[in-house]
Amino acid sequence: MTEKRTAIVTGAARGIGAAIAKRLANDGYAVGVIDLDAAACTTTVEAITAAGGKALAVGADVSDAEQVTAAVDRIASELGAPTILINNAGILRDNLLFKMSVDDWDAVMGVHLRGAFLMSKACQKHMVESKFGRIVNLSSTSALGNRGQANYAAAKAGMQGFTKTLAIELGKFGITANAIAPGFIQTDMTAATAERMKVPFADFIKFSAEQIPVARVGQPEDIAHTTSFLVSEGAGFVSGQVIYVAGGPKD
Ligand code: NAP
Repeated sequence: MTEKRTAIVTGAARGIGAAIAKRLANDGYAVGVIDLDAAACTTTVEAITAAGGKALAVGADVSDAEQVTAAVDRIASELGAPTILINNAGILRDNLLFKMSVDDWDAVMGVHLRGAFLMSKACQKHMVESKFGRIVNLSSTSALGNRGQANYAAAKAGMQGFTKTLAIELGKFGITANAIAPGFIQTDMTAATAERMKVPFADFIKFSAEQIPVARVGQPEDIAHTTSFLVSEGAGFVSGQVIYVAGGPKD
């Protein structure tokens, strides 16, 4: 890397986002750690600074246009132009279609799709000016369809179309856009799913691992590793791809 680039990771207070933020800091980037509550980002930021890295905690709701602009402006002025963006913030509002409320639908679309749109729009001007950019959007194997997740599956499939379009529009500015579609990753999100299904998390993990070719569930670091590759200088010819990181093939 010729200079220390700045990366932004949304939803980075915990789970996959926290692991990505720590990995990118370890790779040498300054990291803007965004989550709903700035105080919740402290653990991630402290881990990064304790390891000798640079990070800034910023509270913002990625589905709120004004908060997104303020967060990106602050990161740009305190850490430098954000030329790497990881759209990771996510929520679940699972229910079968007949029980799914309009609020459940809107909330999921708001965080995943509107959030990724607002964040990408705010960061792309820095990327275009720098003639370099890397956008990684978190999709999911649920994009292929999953019972109880009409809203989430639609949003995660939408993330894939969004990613491919950014790749087409922004490629000539040295910007790549790719999506990572994780399978089962052991985080609070999958713990909440186990709780909703009234299955002990340990049993849920064991059962899930039995269905996965590599015979284990994923860890946040598995996604961080793939992200590290996609944002690297050398990955400039990889764009518009959806990489399933699921311990086996997906259609
Ligand atoms: P997680 O543990 O629930 O963490 C998600 C983070 O996003 C939380 O810190 C949450 O903050 C934050 N967030 C939610 N809404 C936000 C908003 N409007 N603005 C800013 N931050 C917001 O989830 P995870 O398992 O790490 O998942 C990370 C991403 O990977 C998500 O996009 C998810 O859909 C995707 N994914 C996960 C899996 C999996 O198996 N875990 C599989 C496929 C895809 P609060 O704590 O304040 O709510």
